[in-house]
This record gives sequence, structure tokens and C-alpha cells, in this order.
Amino acid sequence: MSENRFIDRAAPGIAHLQPYVPGKPVSELERELGISDSIKLASNESPLGPSPRVLEAIRGELPELTRYPDGGAYALRAELARRHEVAPACITIGNGSNDVLDMIARVFLYPGRESLFSEHAFAVYPLSSMAVGATLRQAPARNFGHDLQAMAAMVNQATGVVWIANPNNPTGTWLTEAALRDFIASLPEEVIVVVDEAYFEYVRPVHADYPDTSCWLLEFPNLVVTRTFSKAYGLASLRIGYGLSHPDVADLLNRVRQPFNSNSLAQVAAIAALQDPDYVQRSVELNNAGLKQLGEGFQRLGLPFIPSVGNFISVDVGRPAAEVDLALLNRGVITRPVENYGLKGHLRVSVGTAEENARCLDALEQVL
Ligand SMILES: *Cc1c(COP(=O)(O)O)cnc(C)c1O
Repeated sequence: MSENRFIDRAAPGIAHLQPYVPGKPVSELERELGISDSIKLASNESPLGPSPRVLEAIRGELPELTRYPDGGAYALRAELARRHEVAPACITIGNGSNDVLDMIARVFLYPGRESLFSEHAFAVYPLSSMAVGATLRQAPARNFGHDLQAMAAMVNQATGVVWIANPNNPTGTWLTEAALRDFIASLPEEVIVVVDEAYFEYVRPVHADYPDTSCWLLEFPNLVVTRTFSKAYGLASLRIGYGLSHPDVADLLNRVRQPFNSNSLAQVAAIAALQDPDYVQRSVELNNAGLKQLGEGFQRLGLPFIPSVGNFISVDVGRPAAEVDLALLNRGVITRPVENYGLKGHLRVSVGTAEENARCLDALEQVL
């Protein structure tokens, strides 16, 4: 690509940003490859489709599309506040939880401040940090997971934000309650610590020592917990997520938030999703079965994989991931190479239905 002619005029951090390369739309990919009936296991989406109760709520809201949404998301924040037993003032609604992560970077990071995250961590932390000109500090991982000791050793006077993904994407590794609590307690109170719990709903029912850090807000005023409706609730397209924090932190986040950042369909859908626990339970059950099926399948194929508690598994295919990705694409199976996360030879496979998982494993067997 030729040099961008306006790059000298961009803010310093922007010049170093690599644009996010989204996957091609399934329809375009199928056209290009001359295939049909492909399966998408590339973006950690719910294989269940949306909940019927959510669809009904959206239909009920459609006549209001000419109106601006409620910029304060009053009803959704009230529902979340009730469920988390916090004041509505502790809640920041985002256009997806990525939006909240971006607000955190914009409020608490700037040139001269350091943004600390782990090797193999979710890509949004460095992206949002770079955009505001902060200095990136990447702690080495241990066994693909966050090494909290290594991270603690990198905290200093300049540290603005520490990002923890629990569990992390794309590794699926997670931190126990005791380990995470000790780490947060060891941080100076001036340092904002973000615990990104995008996959919370999948992990909590399965692992007793996986923490619900939303209960730690009173104890740690520098803590921001983020959650999303994109994964277990199956609403990725609607873009809705939220942050939980001390009200003073939420106040600052809400100052940089776009006034109408979450739309009215997303707001009513999120409320309906919260009121449909059966959907989440089916999500979790399907995911548990799928993690087992994929894990056993990879084992049968002799492929090492990173044990995951998310709705995805990163698997070591033992050769350039892009090559295997392309071969799978030609068999109508869309996965995500994650070499850009420092995971050489790895593909991330999202958990699908039993049939989709089986098809992915069959295709892998043919390709390898
Ligand atoms: C998917 C994901 C998110 C959620 O993104 P949304 O913007 O809410 O769709 C956040 N953090 C991690 C680690 C994720 O994998």
C-alpha cells in the first residue's frame, strides 16, 4: 500500500495504527470461492441465533425508529443496576463493550502514560491505547495466559491503565479469584484496572473459582468491569455492552461517550436478553458440549490446543495458519488465523453447533 498522503497531519498515535482487517462477508467469500453452505466459526458468535424473546422486543420497538434512542439508556441501566446491585450511576453503556474500552483509553491514557497488557491479549487494548498516543507495555505471557507477577513488575508511576481479559481472547486462558484479587489489591489506587469479562456467562457456571469481579467495585474504586451482549446473549450485530465502575469513573467515561452511542433496538433487545435466562443456559450448555467435542477432535488429530473456557479454542495446526485457513475456506469452513496475536501456527475456532464442529474437524483432517 502506498504511503498515506495525509499521514503527517494525523495525531501521532494514528500514524502507527494498523487498520483492523475485518473478515470478508460470508456471501462475498462464497461468491469468490464458488462455494455455498459455508459455516462461520471465526468471530465467537452464538451458534443459536437470537432469542425469540429478543426478536419480539425488537419488533415492538420498530415504530420508534424515527426517534433518537434514549441517550441515557435509562431502562437498561435500571435493569442492570438491579441485577448487579449497584447504582445506575456505576454503569456506562457502550456500542459494544469495545466502545467502553475505547472510552477508558480516551479518559485515562494520553502521551507519556503507559498502557499495560499481556502478550497474546485482546487486540483492542493496544489499538485504543495507541490511538490516544499512550506508550504500550506488553508483559510476557506464561503458558499463553496472563502472568500477573510479570505484569505487576511492570507497573510504575506512568502506568495509566492495566488491561486484564478474563478469560482472554484468543487464548481462552483465565485467572482465579484469589490470583486476580491479590493482583488488583497490589496496584496503586491511581492505576485504572480493567477486567474484561466478555465471556463471563460461559465461565461462571462451570468454574467455581472464576471470579465475578462486579462484586469488587466497593473494594476497588479503580476497577472497571466490562461485559457484553455479543457473546452468550447472541446479540453481536446490535453492538451493546457495558462497563461497571465507581460512579466517579463512570462519570468520566460518560463525558467522552457519544450521546446516542447505543441504539433503541439494542437497548430493548438487551433488556429482553437479560430476562431470558433459558437462552443463556442453552448457550452455555451448547458451548460446553462444543468445547469438549472440538478438544477431543483436536486431540484425535494430534493437534495441540490451548485449553479454553471461552466459546472458542485456539489450535496449533503446526504450519503457517494462513495456509490452513485458506484450505479450510475452500471447504466452506471459516476460522480465524491468530498469528498476529503472537500465536504462531494457530487458528482460532469458535464453538458452533455439533454439526458445525464436526464439519470443521472433518475439514481439518482432510487439510492436514
Ligand atoms: C468479543 C470480545 C469483546 C466484546 O466486544 P463487543 O464490542 O462487546 O462486541 C470484548 N473483549 C473481548 C476479550 C472479546 O473477545
